[in-house]
Formats: sequence, structure tokens, C-alpha cells
Amino acid sequence: MSKSQLIGRSIAELHSLIKAKETSCLEITEAHIEQIEKGDQELGAFLSYTFDQAKAAAARWDERLTKGEAMPLLAGVPVAIKDNMCEVDTRTTCGSKILENFVSPYRAYAVEKLHEAGALILGKTNLDEFAMGSSTEHSAYKVTRNPIDPDYVPGGSSGGSAAAVGAGFCVTALGSDTGGSIRQPASYCGLVGMKPTYGMVSRFGLVAFASSLDQIGPFARNVEDCALTLLAIAGHDKRDSTCLSESYREQYAKPALTRDFIKEFKAGSPEENLKGKRIGIIKELIGDGIDEDVKRPILKAAALLEKCGARVEEVSLPHAKYALSVYYLVATAEASANLARFDGVRYGHRNMDAAELHAMYYASRNEGFGAEVKRRIMLGTYALSSGYYDAYYKKAQQVRALITADFHKIFENFEMVVSPTAPSAAFKFGAKSDDPIQMYMSDIASIPANLAGLPGISLPCGLADSNMPVGIQLVGRPMSDASLLQTAQGLETALDLKLVAEKIKSN
Ligand code: GLN
Repeated sequence: MSKSQLIGRSIAELHSLIKAKETSCLEITEAHIEQIEKGDQELGAFLSYTFDQAKAAAARWDERLTKGEAMPLLAGVPVAIKDNMCEVDTRTTCGSKILENFVSPYRAYAVEKLHEAGALILGKTNLDEFAMGSSTEHSAYKVTRNPIDPDYVPGGSSGGSAAAVGAGFCVTALGSDTGGSIRQPASYCGLVGMKPTYGMVSRFGLVAFASSLDQIGPFARNVEDCALTLLAIAGHDKRDSTCLSESYREQYAKPALTRDFIKEFKAGSPEENLKGKRIGIIKELIGDGIDEDVKRPILKAAALLEKCGARVEEVSLPHAKYALSVYYLVATAEASANLARFDGVRYGHRNMDAAELHAMYYASRNEGFGAEVKRRIMLGTYALSSGYYDAYYKKAQQVRALITADFHKIFENFEMVVSPTAPSAAFKFGAKSDDPIQMYMSDIASIPANLAGLPGISLPCGLADSNMPVGIQLVGRPMSDASLLQTAQGLETALDLKLVAEKIKSN
């Protein structure tokens, strides 16, 4: 089998090729490395490569599989991780100059789980500095381009991971989602991307941006691969006190996300996966502020859901109009506290010329952080300052509770809600980079799920006038990750995404 034939395959396909001895983990790894060497110069998906480690791990897995060991979930599957997750023996920069030389002494939990599951990590991917941004134009190192058309941004902040999966550099990748940074780039690059229920995946080893909102999740080219990758990284970890306990998962995660459940919904027809589901379509997110060429494919997909037996009705999220303001207070407040540790002493770049301690802190942080990060630290510090705390931070938390209550009210009658993932399809470089507010608007549809801790998934559902993909977002009840994936699988099959993929390719 030629190397290029191994690119663009699903996990199931790769596994059957390995089982039939038509290929090996090492060959798959080498094929993907070749793909990266051909294309990453132009796209800029990666900040660092870990090819040698991946090849060594692949050879070890080949040996274990030859000895007859059972095949773990992601055996021989090339993956990439966003460069805000710690991995040993390589740098973790967060896309920032302040962490240019930081090598973590430990691994993030999700990264440990990838290794255990047999995944082969090819490198760390580019991101907006400290995951603050929506276009991957704000990395201190370089921009990442959209693999469908390099004139367009890949979305952000996990744009590197999205571009890597879209370009066939790896099969799945991890991103982090604080306000939409997995779902929005997935929608811009025509991929599936999921933010799990808050606490489903441990945040241990994920460099914190806004701790009450951050969650790690997968990018994939199809729903099944997304489900398998999430299954591999989910689980209780006592090193993250907000990570859900096993007993809580057993009690509330119904149906549980298991390999058998994934097999079952993969085998089911769209009707079997969608019949009888009650789905709300959020009226505030299909009205003003959403591009017409985004609304069109979303409404078509909603009609398709109905055709397959789901019940789709309009629902209201009355406080959604405040979500962006609430987010930019809560997220910046938490960021200002989390980023205090990068001071040249505990972590990060240190200015060596300063005459005294405060001047050293000031110069180190001033040299190390980019403009967007500084803007957020200032905003967050202001919102938390004694005279303004009640008016800004506390008020934002109160309104956050109202947004969460809006969702729970809907969930009394509906299992999930749908909306566009983002108000527009991918935009061109520079289109929004001079106007932070315009950039912030890219997340109006994805932020509410973070504020309420709910699981959300984006999958491609059609094309905008620019021929760039449009993503539809499903948001479910807390702990409903498995049924969200099942519904997404039904919709994916009904939409016949191969057609969308081919149209994108012929762009
Ligand atoms: N774009 C949003 C922000 O800039 C969300 C980022 C994220 O989810 N990490 O904060």
C-alpha cells in the first residue's frame, strides 16, 4: 500500500488495515510525517514536531500487536495536540514568547490518556496566544492557514489542530475550548469538533486560560473518530478537582460513551439515531447578526432532522444577548489571575536588565505577552478590583446563572438545541484583526455552552457563498455527550457529508 493511500482514513479503516497486516503503525506514522513535510510549510499548523518519539512509539505498538495484544482504542492513530497542553521532552509555548523555552516536567492527563490508548503524537499545534482569539492570527510565532483555502483563517484559537486534521497531517487532534475554540475552527475547516461537558476531561496539564470555562476536546473528520478520541481521553483524575468523579459519571452519564455504544450508533440508520428526539432551534441564533448564507444550510439541516423523525421546534434563550459581555468579564477575570504566574520567576521569560524586582516583573511581562493577552489581563484585573467587583464580575456571574437557567428550562422539554456554530463562515486574513469586538463576535453562538458547562458539538452541514464550510452546533444537557454524538452521527449520515467534502475539494 502506498503511503498516500494511508492519508485521510478513518480510525476504523486504519485498524482494519493493521489487522489485515496490510500496514503497520510505523508505516502509518511515516506516511503522515511525509504529508506534514509536504504541506506544513505553507499551512503553519505545527509549532513543534515530535516525529522521533512518535516513530519509536509506533514501533513499540507494532511489536505488542504482533505478540497478539488487544488493539487499544487509538492504536497506530497519528494525532496532534494544541500547544497549551503539557507533554514531556518538548516545549509547551501556548503560542507565547513568554513560554518560548518552557519544557514541562509532566504530561497533561489527556496526553497521558492518548499515549495509553496507542495514539502517536506527531507534534504540538499553533494557537492564538494563550488560547485568546478566534483566527490563529494572534500566535507570537506565525499564522496558521485554512487547509481548504489558504487565503482564509482556520478559526481559533485551536486553529493549528483544526488545520492539521483538515490537511490530513493527522487523524484526530486535541484542542481546548473556553468560548468556542474547538467548535468554531472545526466549523471553519469543515470538521467535527466537540467540547465535552465541563469536567468530563481532566484539565490537569492544560495551561489555564479561564478555569471555569476551559475544556479539552477532539477534532476529527467524522463523528465516529471524534467519539473514539473523546472516549480515550475522558475519565476521572484526582489532580483536577473540577473533574467529574466516577460515581457521578455512572449515575448521570446515560447512555455512557462506550466502544459498544459508538459501534451501535455507527451501525444505526439516521432514522434510528434521530427518531423521536426533541430538538430546539435557538431563535436568537438564527436571526439578526447571523449571515444569510449560514442560516440557509442550518435551516436545511433542521428540516432534514425533522424528515428523519426528530421533532424540531423554535426555542428561546432570552439571556443569550448578554453571553458575550458575561464571557468577556468572567474569562478575562479568571485569565488575569491564571496568568499572574508568568512573572519571570515562577514561570516564563525573565528580563535580566531590570534594576529591581518590580521593574523585572514589569519588563518580563511586557516583553513576553502580546497585545491581546495584555488587553485581557487589564480588563480582568479591572473587573476584579475592589471598587468594581460587584458591578462587573459579580454581575456577570449572576447573569451567567440566568443563561444556565434558560438552558435548563429548555431542557425540560427538549433533549438538545441546535444553532449555527458561528455567525459567519471562515473569513480572510486581516478581516477582523484590527477590530477586537468584531473578532469577539465570532463566538456569540458557542460561548453560551461554556458559560453553562454544557457539551457542544459542531459538524459541517453545507457551504456558504464563499464555498467555505458552515458548521451546525448541537448543545445537550449536562452529561449527555454520548447522545449528542449519536444525534450528530445520525445527522452526519443523513447529510451525506461526502458530498460536502467533495465540493470543498473542488473549490
Ligand atoms: N475566541 C474566544 C476568546 O478569544 C474563545 C477562545 C477559546 O475558546 N479558547 O476568548
